[in-house]
Amino acid sequence: MTESILVLAHVDENGAALTKASLEAVTAGVELAAQLSAPLSIGIVAAIAPSGTCVLASTGARLLAVSGEAFAQPRYATDAAACEALCRAAAATIVLAPGSARFTRVAAGVAYRLGGCIDTHITALSATEGVEASRWFYRQRVEAVLSRDARPWFLLLDAGTHAAFAAEPATAQIEQIAVELPAVRTTVSGLRAPKQDAQTIRPEAKMLLVAGAGWTKKQPDGQIHVDQAGELILGFLRHTGASLGSSKSLVDQGGEGVPVLPFLTHMNQIGQTGATPRHAKGLSTCCHGEEPHVVGWRFIGDRRAISLDPNCGWTRGKADVVYIADAFQVMAKVNALLGSAKA
Ligand SMILES: Cc1cc2nc3c(=O)[nH]c(=O)nc-3n(C[C@H](O)[C@H](O)[C@H](O)COP(=O)(O)OP(=O)(O)OC[C@H]3O[C@@H](n4cnc5c(N)ncnc54)[C@H](O)[C@@H]3O)c2cc1C
Repeated sequence: MTESILVLAHVDENGAALTKASLEAVTAGVELAAQLSAPLSIGIVAAIAPSGTCVLASTGARLLAVSGEAFAQPRYATDAAACEALCRAAAATIVLAPGSARFTRVAAGVAYRLGGCIDTHITALSATEGVEASRWFYRQRVEAVLSRDARPWFLLLDAGTHAAFAAEPATAQIEQIAVELPAVRTTVSGLRAPKQDAQTIRPEAKMLLVAGAGWTKKQPDGQIHVDQAGELILGFLRHTGASLGSSKSLVDQGGEGVPVLPFLTHMNQIGQTGATPRHAKGLSTCCHGEEPHVVGWRFIGDRRAISLDPNCGWTRGKADVVYIADAFQVMAKVNALLGSAKA
């Protein structure tokens, strides 16, 4: 089958640049097109279409754009119409798109309109015998390699699975694709987002800090020190921009009347019944490292842990480095060093 590959991309909230996840999809598209010797198109959705010079010029792809005020904000009706128009203009058989909130919302609908099919959470692509896409099932325990005959085949890529495409901007020809807008019922009146400090889940961060239940347990002086624990954890996040994960035991405590860290919710939970994030490094603190928790660390590159217990799960081959130490003391020292390095 001769394939025609389209990468769908969108700009960030400021409307200025393509999102990192979109640039990761571009890398995936460039690689797949090279493996298949197939034509590549890149379709951009933005209020103001990039013109003149563009980082995508060196991809050698056909560049298409849908632009206009209607595309300044994510909205099902307009985004679906934009993506459909781009897919038709490119006559795409394989459509790669970032698994962003914006495209995840519309991609299945667009696939349906085009009589195609869709798979999500794709982590790798190859083209040995036709196009093959990998994804994980059953809480990241089973990896499957999928192939399909149906076309167009939409593949939503998980963030962090490809390097973001980077190149010197160069002069590019970008074709404007006209879209017939449907009746639009939804108007976007504004955005309400938590303050940067309050938003502790940061998928793009290089590092993951995990807080375990030990932070709220009695310490060697016979007392609990929850306030101090909160300050140490938030201080580390402020200094490093790390993402915050938690063990299940810690986030479950809220319901049991035990003192809790107010900035943690079940959304922070890492593990079998929680999230499986992707970060280059991870530091576990006051967490025992039991298997149902550690399974959520599958995609963490360098794993380190601080635990008082020399027999904890981390020391049994689950971490690269384990510090048998008091996390209150270690993190206070680390924060002080980070503070003086910044000053
Ligand atoms: C079906 C099932 C699904 C589950 N899913 C998940 C999941 O998705 N995610 C998850 O996390 N768990 C999950 N669990 C629970 C998991 O098995 C563990 O119970 C949980 O991870 C324990 O959390 P913890 O290590 O923070 O707490 P604890 O086991 O209480 O460990 C606290 C640790 O802190 C250490 N500590 C205390 N004070 C200090 C200090 N000052 N400095 C350094 N270390 C200190 C202690 O030595 C201890 O090792 C699941 C369990 C089941 C049965």
